[in-house]
Amino acid sequence: MPELLNQIRAQLDALQEQKLLRKRRIVEGPQGPLLTVDGRQYLAFCNNDYLGLANHPALHAAAQSGLEQYGVGASASALISGHTSVVEELEQALAEFVGMPRALHFSTGYMANMGTIPALVGVGDVVFSDRLNHACLIDGARLSGAQFRIYPHNDVARLEQLLAKSNSPRKLVVTDAVFSMDGDIAPLPELLALCEKYDAWLLVDDAHGFGVLGPQGRGSVAHFGLKSERILYMGTLGKAAGVAGAFVAGDATLIEWLLQRARTYIFTTASPPLLASALLAAVKLMQEEDWRQQHLQQLIARLRNGVASLPWPLLPSTTAVQAMIVQDNQLALDLMEGLRQQGIWVPAIRPPTVPKDTARLRISLSAAHSNEQVDQLISALHALAKQHAEADSRSMARNGNTVE
Ligand SMILES: *Cc1c(COP(=O)(O)O)cnc(C)c1O
Repeated sequence: MPELLNQIRAQLDALQEQKLLRKRRIVEGPQGPLLTVDGRQYLAFCNNDYLGLANHPALHAAAQSGLEQYGVGASASALISGHTSVVEELEQALAEFVGMPRALHFSTGYMANMGTIPALVGVGDVVFSDRLNHACLIDGARLSGAQFRIYPHNDVARLEQLLAKSNSPRKLVVTDAVFSMDGDIAPLPELLALCEKYDAWLLVDDAHGFGVLGPQGRGSVAHFGLKSERILYMGTLGKAAGVAGAFVAGDATLIEWLLQRARTYIFTTASPPLLASALLAAVKLMQEEDWRQQHLQQLIARLRNGVASLPWPLLPSTTAVQAMIVQDNQLALDLMEGLRQQGIWVPAIRPPTVPKDTARLRISLSAAHSNEQVDQLISALHALAKQHAEADSRSMARNGNTVE
């Protein structure tokens, strides 16, 4: 066998031994609160379909009519012949929805960040990044060749020190608006104020805020009522919007520059136009029916009240991402398994995805969940806490006996 294959096999074996080998589960049928995983149905709190649009009839119908109008594939990059009228319409609708002059549609959020950051900064420039930022902001910054400076999570004072020290020609601050594993919101007004003070740009990754925060779900920038030419807003369309893709919105000149220079926009086949048809229906639903955001907020409060007396605290969060910190890796896995046995699917998240000693259950709520479904999760967690306490006191009693 070639040496290279031997090496990789050994690396895979090592992952297996450390219990870090990731496995995919087979999911059948559409996404929703009830999910069929490996042949069994679960009540699921694991996806990012925060508004319950991924399987909404209005999106189905729009995708079908998009299919009839445009066929399946776009067949070329947007700059050759792949920019269809429906994507043009979507870009305008998205820009207006988030309150920015212009928007550019990308195939994925990952590609949006990987294309946008290197289009804006390069060697000699600096990117300032929150420690808990998403991988694609980090990768985009690395690809750009700019210097990379990490500041502690949401630490505005530390960021100011770093900005004050920098005399590079272009400075770009990048941040998740809603942190994907914690659910907390970045202090965007303070970050913007620093960008104004130190002549920097602010790239806001709103993957978990678009559709959820702000009036009608117009996103985190609207949530704070911010307006500035320095803000580039990246929203993803595969989470709350229920479909796939992303967009970057901002000052018209900057967006024109991305169109000319973002390599992940230029050198890729445009995504199927029927997705844009479905997305137009999603934006329309968000604009016209904001009961989803309200129901989601009410579910968040219901969950937080319901689990307040458990030994495992939720991190502060007003978003759909609710992180229950259990610290211990094995306990996180045991709780996930305990819930699974009760027919509930909640993922355990362990280091290195999150910092050491902060293993957690990542509960994600959706407007598609009912009050009763959230209550079912709360009861199941209480039952596990009781079992856990009993097991603890049994082992304490045993230890006590051996000491006597
Ligand atoms: C999911 C996510 C992305 C990537 O978006 P995709 O459209 O799924 O590629 C980017 N940033 C954050 C914070 C995310 O959670």
